[in-house]
Amino acid sequence: MAEHSNGGRTAIVIGGGLAGMLAVTALLGHVEAITVVERDRYPEGRGFRKGVPQARHLHILLSGGQRALEELLPGTVAALGEAGARSLYLPRDLLTRTPTGWQRRFDERRHRTLSVTRPVLDAVVRERALQAAAASSTRVEVLEATEVTGLTGDADRVTGVRVRSRDGARGAGRDLPATLVVDASGRGSRTPQWFAELGRSAPREETVDAGLAYATRMYRPKDPDTAPEVGVNVPGWPECPRGAAYVPVEDGAWLLTLSGVRGHHPPTDAAEFTAFSATIGDPYVHELLAYAEPLSPVYGFHDTCNRRRHFARPGALPEGFLVLGDAGCTFNPVYGQGMSVAALGALAVRGALDAAGGLRPGSAAAAQRAV
Ligand SMILES: Cc1cc2nc3c(=O)[nH]c(=O)nc-3n(C[C@H](O)[C@H](O)[C@H](O)COP(=O)(O)OP(=O)(O)OC[C@H]3O[C@@H](n4cnc5c(N)ncnc54)[C@H](O)[C@@H]3O)c2cc1C
Repeated sequence: MAEHSNGGRTAIVIGGGLAGMLAVTALLGHVEAITVVERDRYPEGRGFRKGVPQARHLHILLSGGQRALEELLPGTVAALGEAGARSLYLPRDLLTRTPTGWQRRFDERRHRTLSVTRPVLDAVVRERALQAAAASSTRVEVLEATEVTGLTGDADRVTGVRVRSRDGARGAGRDLPATLVVDASGRGSRTPQWFAELGRSAPREETVDAGLAYATRMYRPKDPDTAPEVGVNVPGWPECPRGAAYVPVEDGAWLLTLSGVRGHHPPTDAAEFTAFSATIGDPYVHELLAYAEPLSPVYGFHDTCNRRRHFARPGALPEGFLVLGDAGCTFNPVYGQGMSVAALGALAVRGALDAAGGLRPGSAAAAQRAV
């Protein structure tokens, strides 16, 4: 992390999720103070929260994302391991069935993926980001249960955000000024509408929608001796566009995510979910369920399209504004990329600000191009 004269510069990060906390990490030393505005109140412990609904579903962190996370917050991968994250080396630790049969497993240790539930992953990253902040020259404050409802400024420059409390009586909104505003509010980002309110056009948007839906349930093997030694992945293929992934997470639990494209969406009724697991390309996952007890209801998720907003195009961003994580780009989750892209993006922001000698006119646009 580079230390430059902060010159009283401040930042606001919209959203205190994964990208938001990594944005904080990237900005440490570059601004005097950062205010994170998070619409949820963080749960006690490492629990689920409403603001990240996809957190019910299987999430793996790819090796590139782990490397980026380590560069931003050294020691985080080990901390995730201590929190129960399971290391899965591919292809050794993931039994994969393709249309031509089960793939051969071999002991190859280059690509370790981490498998852990999102609430644990987010909480570990948040704890470490806030520890790093406490040790830096930048003051960081998190406003929980507070929602950003718009941007302040004009078509050329963003000067802050408008917020309102979500606790009890909502009351009137208030404005918070900042030199830089980072949108890390995830896939539901309202930046295109907020740009319109400032008199700007929305960035060009591209979508590729495979029509995929997920349904996920948590299980625990009834007898650890009958649990599979490794994760099982049976992706859909053209003749059978229904898939399943059954992977271990922390505390001896396993997540089963069933998926399917339009016409094959997995159901969220418990009995129908189990029945659907028998209709994928191989019966093995369905057979395993007889040896496991469910720990949760079934949760569904439908909004899985790839969507890219071209904020890096010349002139697409007002001065003083930057977009990170799903707010800029979402991916079909079947490839397990989104969290890694958020971490790599935060690393790119830090690199671009270091190269520019700090936060100056034009450096947010350079950082966006680097993202
Ligand atoms: C079903 C599914 C499965 C996935 N599986 C994987 C996987 O295996 N591996 C992988 O790497 N990625 C996966 N992803 C992608 C991953 O979930 C995202 O890439 C990641 O969560 C992006 O982080 P983020 O911080 O940008 O957004 P989020 O994690 O969604 O966080 C956004 C935050 O902003 C807050 N917020 C929103 N609006 C406001 C507002 N107006 N004011 C204040 N706060 C606000 C929210 O409360 C939340 O805390 C999956 C996605 C889905 C949908």
